[in-house]
Amino acid sequence: MADTYQKLQSFHPCFGGNRNNTGRIHLPVSPGCNISCKFCDRKINDHEERPGVTSQVLTPLEAMEVLEKALTLCPEITVAGIAGPGDTLATDYALETFRLIREKYPRLIKCMSTNGLLLSERAEEIIEAGVDSLTVTVNGVDPEIEAKLNRLIVYHGKVYIGVEAAAILIENQLKGIEKIAAAGITVKVNTVLVPGINGEHIEDIARAVKERGAQIYNLIPLIPQSDLRNEQAPVCSQIEEARAQAGKHIDVFRHCQHCRADAVGLLGGKDYGDLIYQRRIVGS
Ligand code: SF4
Ligand code: SF4
Repeated sequence: MADTYQKLQSFHPCFGGNRNNTGRIHLPVSPGCNISCKFCDRKINDHEERPGVTSQVLTPLEAMEVLEKALTLCPEITVAGIAGPGDTLATDYALETFRLIREKYPRLIKCMSTNGLLLSERAEEIIEAGVDSLTVTVNGVDPEIEAKLNRLIVYHGKVYIGVEAAAILIENQLKGIEKIAAAGITVKVNTVLVPGINGEHIEDIARAVKERGAQIYNLIPLIPQSDLRNEQAPVCSQIEEARAQAGKHIDVFRHCQHCRADAVGLLGGKDYGDLIYQRRIVGS
């Protein structure tokens, strides 16, 4: 069983590995989603710098062309990730893309993000596709709290709402984390921090995911939008307090830049999306 955490700490820019000289690409191959977060605002555009935004959605074969171009423009890329713009397990495109990457670029680190609704039942496929690092967004481990952050889930063709939906989601997330972690894949957990809803719940989340085998934890400050547009975004002291609560149980990740679903290049450096997707320069 290969533990990938040390490899990621050495070679993945987001995990601290050679941060200034290694890069990453997000391949936007996953358009649809199977849950409905109340803060979600997926967009196709060229200018917003946040998750859930991409200039276009690619097919797996188009993603391979983009990857080849990106590696030519930026050979420092060590990581190929898929983070939307929707959920990576709601369709088969992400796993298909990872299989193609595994064949053609076996040395690239493969990262995947998911909401975890289908994580437990698709864990074996993820392991088989050679994913090195998996990020699961867990915004609550108490269904009453999670239900304030998520409108509904579509699960095996049926719509569930409220606390019932939240309970299914949480159960599948935690079971899935356990399976993936047991296979030696590094599990990172993201939580969207909404001070008025889950601000006092962070320690519970961190404890629960650590018990299931997650290795690192990342807080994403709420961007007030969609149904949560009137919620307050956390201020720095609230983020630090939440990190301190989580840090009692699990390593805390501090360098996430909340990249677009089609980010490409060095972290914090030039984004090659303008060359690859012909994105318009902001303000032009
Ligand atoms: Fe949006 Fe992601 Fe939530 Fe799906 S899992 S609704 S894409 S934020
Ligand atoms: Fe790294 Fe965070 Fe950007 Fe993902 S979103 S590539 S973890 S900095």
